[in-house]
Amino acid sequence: MARLVLKFGGTSVGDIERIKNVARKVKQEVDAGHQVAVVVSAMSGVTNQLVDYCRSISKLHDAREYDAVVASGEQVTSGLLAIALQDLGIPARSWQGWQIPIITDDTHAKARIQRIDTTEVAKRMDETGEVAVVAGFQGVSERARIATLGRGGSDTSAVALAAALNAERCDIYTDVDGVYTTDPRIVSKARKIPRITYEEMLEMASQGAKVLQTRSVEMAMKHRVRVQVLSTFEQAPGSDYPGTLVVDEDEIVEQELVSGIAYSRDEAKVTLVGVEDRPGVAARIFGPLTDAAINVDMIVQNVSEDGKTTDMTFTVGKADLDRTVQVLEKAKGELNFRRLISDANVSKVSVIGVGMRSHAGVAQRMFKALADRGINIQVISTSEIKVSVLVAEEYTELALRALHTAYGLDAA
Ligand code: ADP
Ligand code: ASP
Ligand code: MG
Repeated sequence: MARLVLKFGGTSVGDIERIKNVARKVKQEVDAGHQVAVVVSAMSGVTNQLVDYCRSISKLHDAREYDAVVASGEQVTSGLLAIALQDLGIPARSWQGWQIPIITDDTHAKARIQRIDTTEVAKRMDETGEVAVVAGFQGVSERARIATLGRGGSDTSAVALAAALNAERCDIYTDVDGVYTTDPRIVSKARKIPRITYEEMLEMASQGAKVLQTRSVEMAMKHRVRVQVLSTFEQAPGSDYPGTLVVDEDEIVEQELVSGIAYSRDEAKVTLVGVEDRPGVAARIFGPLTDAAINVDMIVQNVSEDGKTTDMTFTVGKADLDRTVQVLEKAKGELNFRRLISDANVSKVSVIGVGMRSHAGVAQRMFKALADRGINIQVISTSEIKVSVLVAEEYTELALRALHTAYGLDAA
């Protein structure tokens, strides 16, 4: 008997039939003798709709009220799944974040989980085998307000709960049957990866692979939670682990040079033309952005031709572009740049693999594959296990396909 946390995403609970299907899957695990906690997302489309409601009343709405609104989608599915389970004769109870409680900080709309008190849920699992059906994506702040964990946050709810319950595994059921070498909805030759390291999964997620929320992978890595990504819709074939297991490096026998390719359309590029080339300028530019809680990702500074001025290019989240321009224009007098150019039509494409640590030439292969397709690279950044490039948005799919082939990742 094991303790398991199962998480079902929006498509998996997209209508009543699908919720009943989820109940049957949960029943299978209960019948196999496991103690089960389930985390559910809102029905697909519901969270987007709720976000739109808030925006259409006011662009600059109060984040606490946004959270009160958008957390409601998960309340509905948790109740419905508990009813569906009871209907199959399985004892089940729904839990909202505040009822467990899942305590968060008060960074509303992207709150972080601080602790989870699983005493009552665990007691019921032990004593009566009751299935806890937990509303994902939400918790409660120290000030007793509902707080949400950022888009895709139910993954993090699930992994955090698995860590707190000391579960043997956290199964993330979704609409694809695992983590692929790249988004299978874009590259048809993408291959399923049977096992991936925490580190690589963390890079894949943070570079845009939406299959797991970045924080869920951080959390899994920190607490060494074994995570499996698998399909809600396909009957598991014979294997014990039909999906993708996210695990420690030493559990992986054969390591590819490049494991995956991710993309993000959420970036925007800003160039400050003619900034002074002297010590302290970068600090002066990025200081006001940090103060405004704007994250800067890639940065390049051009070589100064005249020794006096240079150009500085960097990327920020698309959603932060207007604010970035505002903040910099306001500081123009002090920063002393000639012109600000912004471009929202860019994408970041990243190749990821722990094999890069010990092999040279990974970046070169990327640059050549893109050059052969006539794709211009606007900005480059690297880390130990990743190379990212910024390209014009219209080339995203072409770049993904070209790189997928260049690194030998295409399915036969
Ligand atoms: P859920 O609603 O179940 O949380 P998401 O839409 O958040 O599902 O995540 C699953 C989606 O992630 C897939 O439908 C797929 O399009 C996308 N995705 C992006 N990159 C990858 C990848 N490398 N492997 C698998 N899926 C990916
Ligand atoms: N329903 C939330 C969202 O759409 C959380 C999640 O599904 O993970 O972002
Ligand atoms: Mg998701």
